[in-house]
Amino acid sequence: MLIDSHCHIDFYTPDKQLEIIQNAKSEGVNYMLNAGSSRSSFDNILGIVAKYENVFGAIGQHPDEAETNGIISQEDLLQYISKNKKIIAIGETGLDYSKEGYNKDIQIENFLNHINVSVKTDLPIIIHNRDSNSDMCDILKSEMKRHKFKAIIHCFTGDSKMAGEMLELGFYISASGIITFKNAFDLRETFKTIPNDRLLVETDSPYLAPVPYRGRENQPAFVVQVAKQLSEIKEMDFSEIANITSNNFKQLFDLNI
Ligand SMILES: [Zn+2]
Repeated sequence: MLIDSHCHIDFYTPDKQLEIIQNAKSEGVNYMLNAGSSRSSFDNILGIVAKYENVFGAIGQHPDEAETNGIISQEDLLQYISKNKKIIAIGETGLDYSKEGYNKDIQIENFLNHINVSVKTDLPIIIHNRDSNSDMCDILKSEMKRHKFKAIIHCFTGDSKMAGEMLELGFYISASGIITFKNAFDLRETFKTIPNDRLLVETDSPYLAPVPYRGRENQPAFVVQVAKQLSEIKEMDFSEIANITSNNFKQLFDLNI
């Protein structure tokens, strides 16, 4: 069994949702976590987790969304989270300094709100981090001194120093299709150093299709390619990586599945 720890099922039409969930099942991808991204995604995600027993959900706002549509209050986030027990995480949220004219203050305020909600609910936070390593590490370290929380660094692309700092905070690190990309030598080397008990796999579908599907729309079934690549990096059997990453997911989210 494999678990796709991060995808956006809500970005597909309802017909397509059914199709990709069936594809996933037939490839042994038994569960998936639909990450939140914007206020408008929340009702869709709540509908999806109610409809499909093998899809879990997260509620949270992407940093770009906070800039465009305003910050969602902690009260509102808590309200959505309380609507279904299958909402098992906060996110995705974090920092993204990749676009010109980004607003650091809004992004940081939004991120801190989510960390507070994670502390209040004891649900892990799913962290998006792009071109913001230094602020990200500073915030996570100082927040962790104030209160404990669990986290996944989703779609990890940092170096081994960054990985080390995240591991020290007790976080999990998720590999995406990027580890299959031809020029991702350094990232593959970094993943060699990440302990097995902190590894997760994801697609981030519909984005980031792995080799050999690059250029196509990604889907949770393709997490098989990510796990295959990870098994090569770790010089382990595919089935071992599948078990390890699935068990890590269950452990982190305290799931009996
Ligand atoms: Zn995502």
